[in-house]
Amino acid sequence: MDMKILVVNAGSSSLKYQLIDMADERVMAKGLCERIGTEKGHIKHSTSDGRVYEADADMPTHSEAFDCFVAALTSDEYGVIKSMSEINAVGHRIVQGGAIFHQSELINEKVLADIDQLSELAPLHNPAHVLGIRACVKCLGEHVPQVAVFDTSFHATMPATSYMYALPYEYYEKYQIRRYGAHGTSHRYVSDRCAEILGVDKKDIKIITCHLGNGCSITAVKDGKCFDTSMGLTPLDGFMMGTRCGGIDPSAVTYIMDKEGLTPKQMSDIMNKKSGVLGVSGVSNDNRDVTKAAEEGNERAKLACDMQVYQIRKFIGSYVAAMDGVDAIVFTGGIGENDSRTRREVCAQMNYLGVKIDEALNDTVHGKECILSTDDSRVKVLAIPTNEELAIARDTVALISK
Ligand code: ADP
Repeated sequence: MDMKILVVNAGSSSLKYQLIDMADERVMAKGLCERIGTEKGHIKHSTSDGRVYEADADMPTHSEAFDCFVAALTSDEYGVIKSMSEINAVGHRIVQGGAIFHQSELINEKVLADIDQLSELAPLHNPAHVLGIRACVKCLGEHVPQVAVFDTSFHATMPATSYMYALPYEYYEKYQIRRYGAHGTSHRYVSDRCAEILGVDKKDIKIITCHLGNGCSITAVKDGKCFDTSMGLTPLDGFMMGTRCGGIDPSAVTYIMDKEGLTPKQMSDIMNKKSGVLGVSGVSNDNRDVTKAAEEGNERAKLACDMQVYQIRKFIGSYVAAMDGVDAIVFTGGIGENDSRTRREVCAQMNYLGVKIDEALNDTVHGKECILSTDDSRVKVLAIPTNEELAIARDTVALISK
């Protein structure tokens, strides 16, 4: 397919982009505009042939950030295209699609209004996506198709037994309080890829995908569809992450708020930004720093590492039970793709499943696709680098080709 697709991920103060040539699915250029709306806007842009442009730039809004990277993409020195008219369509990453969006959609005013309306469920993300889309339309013109790809849509197939919370039913009716999940584009990409690598139809295989990065989530995939996932109403649920606590006794929340006199916003900040591996270790939210500290004898760092591995293993076990078995376990995300220690420790005590990985091979696998399990392992274990941008670009092509 000879098309050039721009993939955009707009955050509240940042804008990430990739330009992908769909003829060979190659990234032509990518970049990041940061600190939009502050005095210190900054762009970093790089091309596949190694040219790098980095500069401070005035970006009071997303619109100027767009102008800034468009200038880079089309410049003589750092560009990869002559003009933006070479771009066939734009795919936007959208964090929250709620119960409205079950698949990717061509963006029109109605879709935009719905994304905006879902801001209550994703206050940090959806308003920024709307700004990003509007800035993009302003910059590229109305004639260039824009596609929305939702982090939640892969999870839309969950049965009610997986997505309902045991709260009074009225809160589900009034406020749509339920599990939506996150990282769906990543779980979809790696579970599809897993079936391809193993050479089986995705409808014939049960997969547990572990996306372990700063944010972490685990998904149970059955018949090629999401059956359950660890993140919930928001990306705070599940198990401990870099700075997020994951699932804890809800009473701990009300108790701490009461004792410390905290507002909901303050408590939310503690659970989202000061907890998890950072909160327990007191060292860092970064897996590499905490692993190093643990190896040097820091006991809280060791506890944080051990807790995370234990919680991952428990989630995997619960999804084996939920799906009545598992055929493959996939590791992805910065930790899942690179950290042989986490993979080894998670797989170490899954004898009940007959999981066996080749430890020497595991130690060599960083950021590449690999089957880590031994031939006699009853469950396949794989490392698969995720590629959300490519999944977004593919969805965009599929929708505009219809
Ligand atoms: P995000 O969720 O922000 O996209 P990533 O998927 O990039 O994050 O994952 C970031 C995490 O991956 C960090 O905790 C980092 O320490 C970890 N990580 C990245 N590379 C390695 C590596 N080579 N070894 C161990 N951990 C790594």
